[in-house]
Amino acid sequence: MIDKKRMLARCLVSGRVLSPLARIRSACRADIPILAYHRIWDIGDEDRFPFDVELVSAGVADFRWQMEYVRQNFDPITFATLLEIVDGEIPAPARPIIITFDDGFEDNYQHAFPILNALDVPATVFLSTGYIGSDVTFWYDRLAYLLLRAPQGEFAIQTRAGKFQFTNDVKTRRKAIRSVLRELKLMPNHRRLEVLDNLEIGLGQGCGEPPAPESRPMNWNQVREMASAGIEFGSHTVTHPILANLNDDELRFELTESRRTIEEQIGKPVSVISYPVGGRTAFNEHVHEAVKLAGYRLGLSYMPGSNPLRRLDHFGLRRQHVERYTERPYFAAMLGLPEVFQ
Ligand SMILES: [Zn+2]
Repeated sequence: MIDKKRMLARCLVSGRVLSPLARIRSACRADIPILAYHRIWDIGDEDRFPFDVELVSAGVADFRWQMEYVRQNFDPITFATLLEIVDGEIPAPARPIIITFDDGFEDNYQHAFPILNALDVPATVFLSTGYIGSDVTFWYDRLAYLLLRAPQGEFAIQTRAGKFQFTNDVKTRRKAIRSVLRELKLMPNHRRLEVLDNLEIGLGQGCGEPPAPESRPMNWNQVREMASAGIEFGSHTVTHPILANLNDDELRFELTESRRTIEEQIGKPVSVISYPVGGRTAFNEHVHEAVKLAGYRLGLSYMPGSNPLRRLDHFGLRRQHVERYTERPYFAAMLGLPEVFQ
């Protein structure tokens, strides 16, 4: 299916049909696409990349091309501007779009920020505040690092995923990472960290202190520099849990503490959150209520699609995912015809 859509996107672009179709669509439907990125990194040889390769959304040259495309074809705004539009204070631009980054990897500062700055494209970065300014590797990247470096042989991990047979084959290891990740995402944070600690002890290796340059969270000086240059910041909680699995106290802590920390660090109000993981089971009505109560006005899922401006789902906004394998025609098609290309 993906391959067929990829072919279709190539045909639409090379046949010069995409732009007219997208124009007709946008004339009939006022909406705002939101792009979701994690990391901007040139991975080189994928087999040698020591962290979760699925989190790399684009290499530097592709990201620059994508932002040039956005600059030429859209009116990029922030969520603060979207709220002004929603509140009727200002009219919507002809083709609004929002660029977002989840987690707070340092490469957002190193690689994305100079491009965004040069092209005058605003963006919003969602921070898991427990990691920002620390020497702690994001837990999912720590897992990837450990399993990619595990010695050959059979190894049991304290999850239902059971025993793994590790060979030198990177693909099998990446598959193991995905299946353990699925389980760790469902655990409470303390239990998850316990599993990772035990795994590290069992394998007899550390993740490297301070974190390896290929996977490092931003620090607050970088955040403040970006904020003063017009980059917007939002919450991605403190510890990156699945919000729907938390009890009320944990939920309140994740929502209010992350917001308070960012506001204190950048001196600007925070009114948007992106739900960690963000799929259909990552949030629910109860989470929405807690998010509202904590003072947020908008919440972002990781579900694909666009957002109709007149019927905006304030706490279930959708995003189009950019992946390292997203080809240029597909990127254009994802923005022009979001119902077809997700
Ligand atoms: Zn995340």
